[in-house]
Amino acid sequence: MLKQARPRFDQATIPDDLCPIGTELTTMLPGDWRSERPVVNRDKCVKCATCWLQCPVQCIVEMPAWFDITYESCKGCGICATECPHNAIVMVLEEGD
Ligand code: SF4
Ligand code: SF4
Repeated sequence: MLKQARPRFDQATIPDDLCPIGTELTTMLPGDWRSERPVVNRDKCVKCATCWLQCPVQCIVEMPAWFDITYESCKGCGICATECPHNAIVMVLEEGD
């Protein structure tokens, strides 16, 4: 068997604080880092469910007379606004804290 030209990567040499993102399990949800949010115009929504079908994270929920967004899990991708055939969803900038 051929010998490796370089020594194997030693994980123990990485400082603990080099890249904290992804090294710890946290409760962070997409709603914590999203830059835009979809807003449904309830007067325009005809409950066709296109947004519900297209949302990649399944955060659109059915209400009695319209479809609405679960903002905790919405990542702000804007697919629902693009796909809504009635232009009932607009993307608005998140306000900073
Ligand atoms: S795609 Fe538009 S019209 Fe259809 S349910 Fe969603 S918001 Fe309402
Ligand atoms: S912006 Fe993206 S993640 Fe949020 S509800 Fe629309 S399709 Fe789903």
